[in-house]
Amino acid sequence: MSTFVIDNVNLVLEDGIRHGAAVRVADGRIAAIGDAGSFKEDRTADGEGLFLSPGFIDVHVHGGGGADFMDADPAACRTAIGFHMLHGTTTVVPTTLCAEDEELARVFDALIAVKRSEEAKWFPRIAGVHLEGPFINPVQAGAQPPEYFKNPSPDEWNRIVDAAKGELLIWTVAPELEDADRMCRELRGSGIVFSAGHSEATFEESVRAFDAGFTMATHVYSSMSTITRVRGERVPGLLEASLLRDDVTCEMIADGRHLPEPLLKTVVRMKGTDRIVLVTDAMRGAGMPDGEYLLGSIGRGRRVLVYDGIAHTPDGASFAGSVATADRLVRVMTKVAGVPLFEAVKMITKNPAREIGLSDRRGVIKEGYDADLVLFDGDINVRSVFIGGEKTV
Ligand SMILES: [Zn+2]
Repeated sequence: MSTFVIDNVNLVLEDGIRHGAAVRVADGRIAAIGDAGSFKEDRTADGEGLFLSPGFIDVHVHGGGGADFMDADPAACRTAIGFHMLHGTTTVVPTTLCAEDEELARVFDALIAVKRSEEAKWFPRIAGVHLEGPFINPVQAGAQPPEYFKNPSPDEWNRIVDAAKGELLIWTVAPELEDADRMCRELRGSGIVFSAGHSEATFEESVRAFDAGFTMATHVYSSMSTITRVRGERVPGLLEASLLRDDVTCEMIADGRHLPEPLLKTVVRMKGTDRIVLVTDAMRGAGMPDGEYLLGSIGRGRRVLVYDGIAHTPDGASFAGSVATADRLVRVMTKVAGVPLFEAVKMITKNPAREIGLSDRRGVIKEGYDADLVLFDGDINVRSVFIGGEKTV
């Protein structure tokens, strides 16, 4: 592979911005970081004073560009990840909806086929699969199809683990379901990250789950239990436990619609910028004109309406997934939540890399790390994307 330099950039590092810098890339990795003009290579790209950050890592995304991972089709998968790449995403964890085992198996096979194909290097890296369900609570179904919800049992979870052929990376589970803690204890040693979500857990059940090894909370504030009144007493839920526990990382859909400005700021204040992972939770309609789309597969998906920058249920009563892209999340965090750029970027680069076990090679701009890079302007408009040192956008 080639050696080249991206010169004259403002580098978005984990602890701040380095102005007037350059990065030398060799063999798909970051070989050196220096001042602008300090590297003399034949191949030098002028970064025009734009920002260069690590590639974005989206650990909760269902689709985009008209395609859904539940379509279980390699072409659809490439459409979705290729679309998100245009917005700076270089590593994805494709996310499923609740479905029958056979349908999930087809989704896994399609993703594995894409990952192993010749063209893989021209697309975002697939780090593994995020299973959202089927062990979730019907009371907190959100837009998930309740007919496929199940209770965890060793037979059920082992069948899914086998079908995933080693690609199961994150599992969103309602921890209050019987044996959910046991499932977490048995499987987390094999590298599966457990995230509490779509859940009615009490505060105590949530704490028990975090003690059992749940390390994340799925889309904080959405589809999770919070304060109720019982005979006058205020009873906290998973939301409060997720915000309070320092060892728990919260996914946040920072599209500017799911959470209004005060809640974005509340999460930042409560968690600090190291324990937030920005996720799109994007569905098929991301990047498409307003209109009617299916949430889930072409054959079995549910009708949703996209308008005003978000997907709605047909009656307009609730949200049914986002149409966000990674660049939009960073834009919202800087311009709406008032977070410094380098910290907003950290929430979708270094933090997710750490949560999914990639902190030794991705998520920061550092010598020896994968040359997965995004070049963008002050409004977070993406100009170029590099994956493994290849310019893909
Ligand atoms: Zn989701």
